[in-house]
Amino acid sequence: MNEVKYAVPVGKPGRPCEACGKMLYFVRTAAGKPMPVEADGTPHWGNCTDAERFKKGRKKAEDKVPLRALLDWYMCSDPWPGGDQDAIARWLNDLCRERGFVDWTMAYHELGKDPS
Ligand SMILES: [Zn+2]
Repeated sequence: MNEVKYAVPVGKPGRPCEACGKMLYFVRTAAGKPMPVEADGTPHWGNCTDAERFKKGRKKAEDKVPLRALLDWYMCSDPWPGGDQDAIARWLNDLCRERGFVDWTMAYHELGKDPS
């Protein structure tokens, strides 16, 4: 694939890459998806020193803290405050499996060991 450059609108606010600290600007691709590019319009994906971080698995691994908080909330919802508990449990299981855990109970215990 050819390297495509994107036009960064003048005055568009940027924000530093979480991985490498380079200033990035989010533009929209032709498909309407947000794309992080550098000041010269080059997509940042391939240039980042920590490009792996952009891959799905790595990114998901980074939200352990909110996941743990969610599981804490689920654990202390006893008695269940109302609503479809089975649906929530299934959703939590899916979330946890996507992040490499067997199910939410395992995730709760695994994340409890290492809160960082
Ligand atoms: Zn970066």
